[in-house]
Parts: sequence; C-alpha cells; structure tokens
Amino acid sequence: MTTPTVSEPVDTTSGTPTYDSLLAAVTDPDGREVLDPATGEVVGRVAERSAEDVDAAVARVRAAQPAWAARADAERIDLLNRAADAIEAAAEPLAELLSREQGKPLNGPNARFEVGACAAWLRATAATPLPVETVVDDGEVHAELHYRPIGVVGAIGPWNWPMMITIWQVAPSLRMGNTVVVKPSEYTPLSVLALVHVLNTVLPADVLTAVAGGRDVGARLSAHPDVDKVMFTGSTATGQAIIKSSADTVKRLTLELGGNDAGIVLPDVDPEAIAEGLFWGAFINTGQTCAALKRLYVHTDVYDDVVAALTEVAKAMPMGRGLDENNVLGPLQNRAQYDIVARLVDAARDSGARILLGGDPDPDAPGHFYPTTLVADIDDDNPLVAEEQFGPALPIIRYETIDEAIAMANRLDVGLGASVWSSDRDAARAVAAHLQAGTVWINAHGGVHPMIPFGGHKKSGYGLEFGAEGLKAVAVPQVING
Ligand code: NAD
Repeated sequence: MTTPTVSEPVDTTSGTPTYDSLLAAVTDPDGREVLDPATGEVVGRVAERSAEDVDAAVARVRAAQPAWAARADAERIDLLNRAADAIEAAAEPLAELLSREQGKPLNGPNARFEVGACAAWLRATAATPLPVETVVDDGEVHAELHYRPIGVVGAIGPWNWPMMITIWQVAPSLRMGNTVVVKPSEYTPLSVLALVHVLNTVLPADVLTAVAGGRDVGARLSAHPDVDKVMFTGSTATGQAIIKSSADTVKRLTLELGGNDAGIVLPDVDPEAIAEGLFWGAFINTGQTCAALKRLYVHTDVYDDVVAALTEVAKAMPMGRGLDENNVLGPLQNRAQYDIVARLVDAARDSGARILLGGDPDPDAPGHFYPTTLVADIDDDNPLVAEEQFGPALPIIRYETIDEAIAMANRLDVGLGASVWSSDRDAARAVAAHLQAGTVWINAHGGVHPMIPFGGHKKSGYGLEFGAEGLKAVAVPQVING
C-alpha cells in the first residue's frame, strides 16, 4: 500500500463534519442495528433498502449521466480533487466511524490509513492521463482509439476495506463520465454511506448514490437492465453469481475476487530482515485483506530461523479495540469470519500441526477477537492452507526444492497475488515468472499503488483496476477510422 497523507484531526469549530454529525447524516433511527465488532455496542442504525429502491436509484443516476458525461474531463478532474479535499477535511470522523464499524484500529495501516488512501486514490485517478491513441497512421488509414463513458456503473463491495474499495470503484467510473450506484456490504454500510455523503457535498446531484441492503439489493443491481457495468469486489462465489446474472444484458464486469496468496522464501534470506515485511504481508487489517499473504512456503535451510523471527515480530503487535491508539490489530469484522478462522486453526491443530503462537481465543470475551496465530509443520493439503482463512492465522509450510514450492503455490484455483523473498533480486524474479498470480511482489506482499494495475488470475477474477488500465476498464473503447 502506498503511504497516503493522513490528515490532522479536523477543526470542529469551522463547519467540517464531526463524528456525531456524520453518523447522524447516515443513520436511520428506525433502521437495523449495526454493531461494533470489538464490543458488541450499537454503532448506528442503517435503513435496509429493497430491490425497488435499487430501481429508483438507477433511474436517478441514469438520468444524470448524459450531463455528467458532457462535462469537460478537466471539470470532472477538478471535482475529484475537491472530493479528495472533502475527505481530508472529514478524515478523523470518517476514520472513527470506520474503526467502530469495521473494527480496524485507528492507528497503524488501518482506519486513518484507509481514509488517507481514499483521498490519495481520488487524486491519482484525477491525475492519470488517458490520451486518444493513434493506432494506425500510414498515409492511407488513420485510426484512433477513444474511450467513451459506459453509462451507469453498479459498484458492489465487501466489508474488509469498505471505504477504500468503494473509492477504487467510484473514482475511475466518475472520471470516465459514468454515474454510479454503490451497494455496500451489509456488514459495513455506515462507513460507505458516510463516505458517499462526504463525496456528495462536492459532486453534482445524482451522479453518485448508495443503496444499503442485503444480497437481494446486490443481485438486483447486478442484473439491472439499466446498469451497464458492474465493478465487484468480494468472494468468488458471489462473483460467479454476478457473472450468471450479467448474461442477459451482456454487462461489462470487473471482478476482484477471493485469493489465497502464497509467499515463497528462498534459502538466501536474512530471516530477521524480512520478518516484519512477512508479518504485515500476512496480518495487515488483521488478515482480512484480499491480497494478504495466506500461505508461507519457507526453504528448509532457513525454516526454523524464519519461524523464530516472525514469531518475535508477531508477539510484539498489540491487538485490541480500534479506538485505543496502542493497537495495530483488531477483531474479525463478524462472527461468521471468526468461525471460519477458528475452524481452520482447530483443524490444523487436530492434524498435528504445531501452533507457535495464538490459536487460543477466549470464547467468553466480548467482540470477535481471534489472537494472532502462527502454525508450523503443516502439510500443504491442510484446510488452513487450502482454504482462504481471511483472518489472523498464517500456516508456514516447509519445502526442499524450488520446483516443489512453485508447484504448491500454483496448485489452487485462485491467483490474486504472490511474493518471493530473497536477497538476490534476479533469483526472485526468475521464480516470480513461474507463479500464477495477478501480481508478484519481491520482498514485500500486498502493497497496491494507484498507478499500478491490479487484478487476479484464475478464480481471483478478471479485469484490471488502477492507473490507465483501470480507466479503460470503466469505458467503452471506440475506434474512429477515417
Ligand atoms: P461477499 O461476496 O460475501 O459479499 C460482497 C458483496 O456482494 C456484498 O455487498 C454482498 O451483499 C454482495 N452480494 C452478495 N450476494 C450477491 C449477489 N448474488 N449479487 C450481487 N451482490 C451480492 O464477500 P465478502 O465476504 O464481503 O468479502 C470477502 C471476500 O472478498 C474474500 O473472499 C476476499 O478475498 C474478497 N476480496 C477480494 C478483493 C480483491 O480485490 N480481489 C478485495 C477485498 C476482498
């Protein structure tokens, strides 16, 4: 992740939003309770919308789309930059709401970082050039490739990085002259509604709207005849449902789906030098990250030293309630995800794998906290390796030959990211070339950048986000020949 600018706390005397004013803008007194995953306390209440509300929202943004597309690119760029200003002015209340609702700490690469990334991505999207390409100009033929708006984009997101992923979907869509209906995850609706509220203090009416609700709302949006493109980030199973429901309208899709990223540690590493990078690669957002390191393959020569160094780093990382500035790890966002992590770690323990750290949650403690867990001496076919844990439990598998490690890394049907760790960059790049993943990082894992295309291989999805490729993905290519 690039390091975004993190704003100073807002001056609440100058009319910028406070936590209470932001929450009041998005909460519905008669709505469903949204609970803090660290404490079980009520954060706010969300109005659950219906499929009919989706129809109304699509109709509104559809009506606004021609005028939005007719604006000069420079005007849309200016509005995206002003939207980034508005997020920065509301950064602290947005981060607090995100922390309370999602569970991630304010501190560390978490809530403030995510809000900062929203502003950074808006600015980078605004700054990305997408010039007309002359594809043939030989004296006889002159052909140019232009990128036109698609129309209405449906943006459906998950609960792990709810604000940042919404911006990833919304910013390029708006820049390219589309209007957008956002469907937030039912687990983190308030954060996304608050973000959209702040964006809409700057944007013209009906260019961007959000409809909170359950699967029926997402399903309606992804099948809607007046939605031209769906940007989806979430599980592979939901992505498959969206592919099916897009068939009737031949909807364009960008699908960022699940992953189970492998990291391969070569025998030439300095274990202490890579330990912190390995830790954050695996445990950023308490492991609830699509492109987190979820299976670590370590050469037998350095296995014990890497395991020891990683355990030392992991032990020192405080986990707890997000509003406590001391913490850098938080709870699982919801009980269903907690249960997945607990089941997989229990299965690993029962199979005889060695629990180095964690694996011993207190079932009576409030909140969905699962301790940072490292599991060694585990087989590659163990469920903790083969299934996406999406939480703070990392299996560490020993390998003898690089061919064996590559085969294990590639054997699953997903391929979002991967990493190779070595003191020899060329050796690492040679291994990277054999890995089936949309991104391979060298001596790092999971960092994304607004100018670098990001997308998956195999069942991790298709289509690219970020940079010029990301702008093209929310546009229709049109050739002007003549
Ligand atoms: P999910 O698929 O359960 O839900 C995602 C969204 O889809 C939610 O808003 C949900 O309401 C909606 N939805 C559910 N059923 C739908 C349907 N039939 N039609 C349309 N929308 C529907 O995913 P999640 O549990 O929120 O997120 C976790 C998963 O997301 C993990 O697998 C993770 O790896 C993946 N993820 C991927 C990326 C990436 O960039 N590749 C990023 C973050 C998360």
